[in-house]
Amino acid sequence: MKSSSRIDTRSAAAFSESKQVIPGGVNSPVRAFKSVGLTPLFMEKGAGSRVTDIDGNSYIDYVGSWGPLIVGHAHPTVLQAIQETAVKGTSFGAPTLLETEMAKLVIERVPSIEMVRMVNSGTEATMSALRLARGFTKRNKIVKFEGSYHGHADSLLIKAGSGVATLGLPDSPGVPDSVAVNTITVPYNDLESVRLVFEKFGEDIAALIVEPVAGNMGVVPPAAGFLQGLRDITKQYGSLLIFDEVMTGFRVHKNCAQGLYGITPDLTCLGKVIGGGLPVGAYGGRLDIMEHIAPAGPIYQAGTLSGNPLAMAAGYATLRLLGEPGVYEELERKSAILEAGFARNAAEAGVPSTINRVGSMICPFFTEKNVINYETAKTSDLGKFNAYFGHLLDLGVSVAPSQFEGMFMSTAHTDEDVAATIEAHREALRRL
Ligand code: PMP
Repeated sequence: MKSSSRIDTRSAAAFSESKQVIPGGVNSPVRAFKSVGLTPLFMEKGAGSRVTDIDGNSYIDYVGSWGPLIVGHAHPTVLQAIQETAVKGTSFGAPTLLETEMAKLVIERVPSIEMVRMVNSGTEATMSALRLARGFTKRNKIVKFEGSYHGHADSLLIKAGSGVATLGLPDSPGVPDSVAVNTITVPYNDLESVRLVFEKFGEDIAALIVEPVAGNMGVVPPAAGFLQGLRDITKQYGSLLIFDEVMTGFRVHKNCAQGLYGITPDLTCLGKVIGGGLPVGAYGGRLDIMEHIAPAGPIYQAGTLSGNPLAMAAGYATLRLLGEPGVYEELERKSAILEAGFARNAAEAGVPSTINRVGSMICPFFTEKNVINYETAKTSDLGKFNAYFGHLLDLGVSVAPSQFEGMFMSTAHTDEDVAATIEAHREALRRL
């Protein structure tokens, strides 16, 4: 038995203490393991595919800091970049050459981005992109999908996924009605509903924001034609199409989800991977839109630490590593083996299962239904998931403590890690 299920651990003691001084003991809700009814593990270190908690237990890790660590924990090249940059000063609040290099690299890799602005989190990226879309179109309404998560800005915390879905919260208190009325939600993968909404409100809709692969209701791929349909409809009504690629950016393809599916949004939000494990977000897109941002234009957005040298260095090093040949093919190969192993185990154990996967985003659901949106994601047996999660931890495998999140494969996972994970999964299902 590992520390998740025991009360006399250093993690348990640390959690008792943190709860006195930090709301719920954590600085981001899902970390608290509340929905799975366990004590969170306090982490001490990470190396490659593994993390070690403060009780000394080691786990094969598929959380990857919730997506950023696509080259694994403490990658030597990333660490070196951070160290070499840090000794020259950690922040200037003045432009640096690294920011221009980073912008050029992002523009080179992301098909729709002609100009990009760095911020400090995914939340800032989506919040700023929405302000830009509203300022540019001079319209107020936005459309988002049920069970999608785009960070915690007021207008996006409506029928949200991720931690909001995990904790079963209704729309968050504190979001003014006057803001909420401008957010329209529709089911993912349902073009007909999108069409109806645009027929009714099209002239008032500034933007539609979408995770091109949904990753916050578990993993849900876009149905064939869905993203193209969104492109066509938004174009017809003069609304902007925003791809929230905070999770999918440089995760599912070297040119992001837009490269994978061949769809060109007007604006793209990035985060996670482009920070290489340091706090970063970014938004970018069409030149004629981006030039409306201050000081080039009147739409205001700023940040004391935006474009921070350490974050730029870590992100740049990570993107360079991802530019090496064969990286995404390797991620695909290992992820496909994991998926096949999980499917075999579920069939063998007679456990209801649907496994969704796009590249290195993988999500086993405890349902036999096709999971195509939030409604169908919720058919997963959460009791089974919670028990499975605890068993996996006991067996030395760390995944996100929620059915409504995916697993992330990294370049650091070895074939042995994958085989051991499949074996742990088999045993976890047997124990259910
Ligand atoms: N958009 C998406 C698609 C995300 O997955 C997340 C975070 N999981 C965010 C936005 C918010 O990013 P952050 O947590 O960095 O604010």
